[in-house]
Amino acid sequence: MADRYDYVIIGSGIAGLYAAILAREHGSVLVLTKGSIDDCNTRWAQGGIAAPVGPGDSPEKHLRDTIEAGAGLVDEEAARVLTAEAADRIDDLVRLGVPFDTVHGEIALAREGAHSLPRVLHAGGDATGAHIELTLSSVARLEGITVLEYTIATEILVEGPGGDHEPRRGGSRTAPTASACDNHRRAAGVRALDTRTGQATEYACRNLILATGGAGQLYRVSTNPQVATGDGIALAYRAGAEITDMEFFQFHPTALRLTGVQPFLISEAVRGEGGILRDEGGERFMPACHPQAELAPRDIVARAILDRMQRTGADHVLLDVTHLDPHLVVARFPQIYRFCLDAGLDITQRPIPVSPAAHYTMGGVRTNTWGETTMRGLYACGECACTGVHGANRLASNSLLETVVFAKRVVRRTLVQTDARPGESPATTAPLAPDAIDLSEPAPGEAAPLTREALQDLTWRDVGIVRDAASLTRATATLGAWQTTLAQPHDRPSQELADLLLCARLVTEAALRREESRGAHYRTDFPEPREEWRRHLTFRRASIRPA
Ligand SMILES: Cc1cc2nc3c(=O)[nH]c(=O)nc-3n(C[C@H](O)[C@H](O)[C@H](O)COP(=O)(O)OP(=O)(O)OC[C@H]3O[C@@H](n4cnc5c(N)ncnc54)[C@H](O)[C@@H]3O)c2cc1C
Repeated sequence: MADRYDYVIIGSGIAGLYAAILAREHGSVLVLTKGSIDDCNTRWAQGGIAAPVGPGDSPEKHLRDTIEAGAGLVDEEAARVLTAEAADRIDDLVRLGVPFDTVHGEIALAREGAHSLPRVLHAGGDATGAHIELTLSSVARLEGITVLEYTIATEILVEGPGGDHEPRRGGSRTAPTASACDNHRRAAGVRALDTRTGQATEYACRNLILATGGAGQLYRVSTNPQVATGDGIALAYRAGAEITDMEFFQFHPTALRLTGVQPFLISEAVRGEGGILRDEGGERFMPACHPQAELAPRDIVARAILDRMQRTGADHVLLDVTHLDPHLVVARFPQIYRFCLDAGLDITQRPIPVSPAAHYTMGGVRTNTWGETTMRGLYACGECACTGVHGANRLASNSLLETVVFAKRVVRRTLVQTDARPGESPATTAPLAPDAIDLSEPAPGEAAPLTREALQDLTWRDVGIVRDAASLTRATATLGAWQTTLAQPHDRPSQELADLLLCARLVTEAALRREESRGAHYRTDFPEPREEWRRHLTFRRASIRPA
C-alpha cells in the first residue's frame, strides 16, 4: 500500500479540482486522473454556469425552473441547496480567477432553454468550460496539489464484510448481502493503474471522493470526449454503493452533423440568442411542438428533431443563425464559429446541420445533500453523482453549478468528525433506499464480439432517445451475454470497456423497468408519465459477486 492520504480524489474536472483546492486546506490530498489533467467533460462546456444573480432573479425562481424541467423527480431539498448556494459558489470561482464575461462592468447573463430569465454566466463567449478548467488546474498547481496523471482508478478498496480483505473479483467465496453489510463497510482507498508503466498501486485514505464525470461514451453519437466512460459509477456499484436514476440520459438536441467531423456541441445558447431550427425544406417546426419553441426542454427539442429527421429522411435538421448580426455570432460563439469554419462551414452565411447526441448522465452514484454515498468514507460529486437536482431532465447549465455546490459540501462534511474516532471519516452515510434492486443475472447468449463501438451502436439503436420493451429486452440480452464473456480488465481500454458495459446494463435495465415516459426517458409503448412511477429506480448489488 502506498502512502495514506486524508483525501484521495478521482478525477480532475471541475468537481475534482475544486474539491481538491478546498480539501488542501484541511489535509493531504492526492488527485488521480486517467488522462492529462484537462482531459474531461468540463473543458468542453460551452453555454455556461447557471446562477440566480441577475436583476429580478432569485434562488426561488431558479428552483422553480429546475423542478419544472425535472419532470416530477427533482429532489426538492437538493435543488433548494443548489439554488441557494449558487451565488456564493460563483463568488468562489471569481475569487479563484475564472474570467466570466461582463457587459459594462456587470456579469453578462445568457438565456437558455427552460430558464425563465437570463441566468447563465459564461467565459470567453462559448469557452466557459475551458476557462474554468484552466483556472482550476493553474490554482491546483500553484497550491502544490499532487495530481497523478495517466493513472486510472480500477477498484475501490473496501474494509468490512465483503470488503478488501475478501477474495477479489473472480474469488469463490460468497460475501454477505449488501443490506447485511450496511454501515459496516467503508471505503478505505483505491487501487489504480499507471497507464504508462502498467504498475498497479493501492492508495489508502480517510475520504475517497469520486469526481469521475459521466458516461456519455455509452452512445455512438455523443458530445462527450473519450474519457467519459462512467468509471466512478461502475466502481461504486461493484463496491456496493447505490446507483440511481440511470435511465435518465440527456440527449442534447443540437450537435454538429457533418460527414467526417466529430459530433461537436452547438450550445443551447445559440438558440438562446435567437437561432431557429428548420427542416431540410426550410420550415420552422418548433413553435408547433411547444410554447417555448426552440427553447423548450431538451428532451422535447431532441424528439422533435428526431421526428422531423424521420419524416424528411434526412440525417439532420438545420440550425439557422444567418439572420443574426454576424459580429454578434462571432463574438458570442467564437469556439463554435471557429470549429465550424475549420470544417468548411461559415455559420454566419449558412445554416448549421445538427442532430441530437448523447450529452449528460443524470443518474449516478446516489448521494445525499452532503455528497455522501451509501458507503462510509465514499463521497461523490459532479456528473458521476446523483444528488437528485436534475430529476428526469437536467435544466441547461445546472450541471457545472451542481459540481461546485456539492464539491464544497463534500469537503465541509468530511470536517464533521463528531461520531468518528480520531483519524476516521464521519460515520454518516446516505440512508439506503428501501426498494433498491440488483441487476438481473447475466446469461450467456449469441452476440457479436464486445468492442466499444459494438456497445455504442447497440445502446444508440436500442436504448437511445426513444425506446420500447422490445428494444430494451433485446439490449438486455446482448449486454448480459457480453458480461458473461468479459475478461478481467488489465489496462485502460479494457477497464473502460468493463465500466461502460456495466453502466449500459444499469441504463438498460432501469429503462426496461420504468414503464412510462418521463423527462429524458421516452418509451413509445408507454408514451405518458404514470403517477405510480413518480419514484426513483435504485440499484444495489445483492451480494459481493463479480460484476
Ligand atoms: C460538449 C459539452 C458541453 C457542455 N456544456 C455545459 C454547459 O454549458 N453548462 C453546464 O452546466 N454543463 C455543461 N456540460 C456538462 C458539464 O460539462 C459536465 O457535467 C461537468 O463538466 C462534469 O464535471 P465533472 O468534474 O463531474 O466531470 P469531468 O469534467 O468529466 O471530469 C471527470 C474526470 O474524471 C477522470 N476520470 C474518470 N474516470 C477515471 C478513473 N477511473 N480514474 C481516474 N480518473 C478518472 C477524467 O479523466 C476526468 O479528469 C457540457 C458537457 C459537454 C460534454
